[in-house]
Amino acid sequence: MNKISQLLPPNKISVSASKVIQRLCSAGHLAYLVGGGVRDILLNRNPKDFDVATDAKPEEIRNLFRNSREVGRRFRIVHIRFGREIIEVSTFRGHHKGPAAEHSGPVMDDNVYGSFQEDVLRRDFTINALYYDLINNEILDLVGGMTDLENSAIRIIGDPIKRFREDPVRMLRAIRFKAKLDFNLADNVTQEIRRSGQLLEQIPAARLFEETLKLFMSGHAAKSFAALTEYGLFNWLFPCVENHFSRYSTQQRLIELALNSTDRRIKAGLPVTPAFVLAAFLWSEFLHQKDLLQEGGMASADAIAQAGLRTLTEQQMSTSIPKRFAIPIREIWSLQFRLPMRRGKRAEKVRSHKRFRAAYDFLILREESGEKLDNLGKWWTHYQEVDEEQKEALRSTADKQVTKRPRAKKTSNN
Ligand code: ATP
Ligand code: MG
Repeated sequence: MNKISQLLPPNKISVSASKVIQRLCSAGHLAYLVGGGVRDILLNRNPKDFDVATDAKPEEIRNLFRNSREVGRRFRIVHIRFGREIIEVSTFRGHHKGPAAEHSGPVMDDNVYGSFQEDVLRRDFTINALYYDLINNEILDLVGGMTDLENSAIRIIGDPIKRFREDPVRMLRAIRFKAKLDFNLADNVTQEIRRSGQLLEQIPAARLFEETLKLFMSGHAAKSFAALTEYGLFNWLFPCVENHFSRYSTQQRLIELALNSTDRRIKAGLPVTPAFVLAAFLWSEFLHQKDLLQEGGMASADAIAQAGLRTLTEQQMSTSIPKRFAIPIREIWSLQFRLPMRRGKRAEKVRSHKRFRAAYDFLILREESGEKLDNLGKWWTHYQEVDEEQKEALRSTADKQVTKRPRAKKTSNN
């Protein structure tokens, strides 16, 4: 085994994680910091969370920590809670029994537990398989992770074909680490990802949604998108999007703008919501559905509502979309058709809608992406900046086309 003497700056390591490791070790167990915590500290970054690996069984861990509970359907993992922080402790795992073992079945029996060596080999990439021995200040590196870290390389442990079959989500993880760390994928990883995207079809939609959040809501969304499309995986997450790139010339640009804006907001510490990004991904599919319904004779308002539902239902075959995001997505879309109608009380009504801000931001991006909107976004920007009197003036000269149109709708429209 390769043991490297190295002290990781103690102030970078979560106090809670240190406590967990120390208590496990005092009770006679092996316990190491592992995964993103070690990797990110070595790269001079701030880890998102801390994972601990130990030879203690879940029951033994539970007995040592009152503030703990067992979680995980895929694996038995113990979460130890310290205020808002959770330290994830997993027992060394051995070889799995087949392709399904990683992502199905409720609780695994004891014989999947393994030795330290086996635990190293079940991890996905070498840079994620560095263990830190906090008592002796040593990094344990069985798979050349340190060299790969130095070379900015994402190398899979073992045979890529086998490892991606066992758990296809590892392909998305490879892309995520590439985007997050600005690393390069090893050749055999690239090759296998290009061949194996279809394996993602086996993954439950809820798990794919979780991975989608990590890809696009962690500050490296634009890079994730670029890499996913480059390696042919985006299509397996959002099957209806790429088809539209040729027909709706602004769609790809809209996505890039939305992702850049999300990345910038995260950097600036501003709130972000997946609803905005998803609304951008699926915008042209929504328009396409709406056109189809209207061509079939449906009235515009109904077509907008139905197209929203259809688009999201279709997307949910690939990634789930929880209601708390689905509703805002549809609101962002439908508000796009109310923003042009500004006369009388309409402008203020739209402006007081709780999703106005997101819908307005979305409108601005549509305009920036090249959609021809007759400067509607600029109008709204201006409108929000002026006083009441000027607002009134702006409203009275707005949406000429709309008011000229014969009133097809009854008054119930408002
Ligand atoms: P981050 O927390 O920054 O997203 P991470 O590497 O810590 O990155 P986690 O999802 O927290 O990722 O997982 C912790 C560790 O567990 C990983 O570093 C890796 O060693 C192992 N791991 C996680 N998911 C898998 C998987 N699908 N296959 C194999 N090993 C995995
Ligand atoms: Mg982690």
